[in-house]
Amino acid sequence: MKLLNALKRRLISLFVCLQKILKKYTKDVSSQPLGIMYSKMNEPRIVILHCSATPDFKSKDPGFDRFGARDIDSWHKKRGFDRIGYHKVIRRTGEIENGRDATEIGAHCEGHNYNSLGVCLIGLREFTVEQINSLEKLVREYRLKYGIKIDQWYGHYEFNNRKDCPNIPMICFRHVMRRCINGD
Ligand SMILES: [Zn+2]
Repeated sequence: MKLLNALKRRLISLFVCLQKILKKYTKDVSSQPLGIMYSKMNEPRIVILHCSATPDFKSKDPGFDRFGARDIDSWHKKRGFDRIGYHKVIRRTGEIENGRDATEIGAHCEGHNYNSLGVCLIGLREFTVEQINSLEKLVREYRLKYGIKIDQWYGHYEFNNRKDCPNIPMICFRHVMRRCINGD
């Protein structure tokens, strides 16, 4: 466990420095068919990770826990959505908040909203250990509930190469999550 926690901390700094380099070498999967179903219900087969692009407040900052699902809900409404486009939001504290129900089609990644779950991390690029731990929890939960494997977790930028969101090199994310969950 100690080793894994150290690994997670290393991961956060890795996220920051590797994102730009890895993005160039990560396969763009946007053209891969994912069996999009145009039904009225969402059929979650993949997870798409986002970030809120709000400041990376540290725990000692007054604004540390300032933003959450309610704020995103109001921003998305201003953009003309019915309500929050994501299914889950992970606050800086690691608290997981509900957005849309998993059965509801999301509004977070054009062309992939019918078969995915949208998860948004509060922050820009320096996420907290608590947030990474909550992600691990969601990886486990979605694997059990929907059979979504770690390889089916993507970053928004992997579907839209004009975006950097969520500023996490997903190849590293998948690697670390695989190690955390397979327990070595
Ligand atoms: Zn995004």
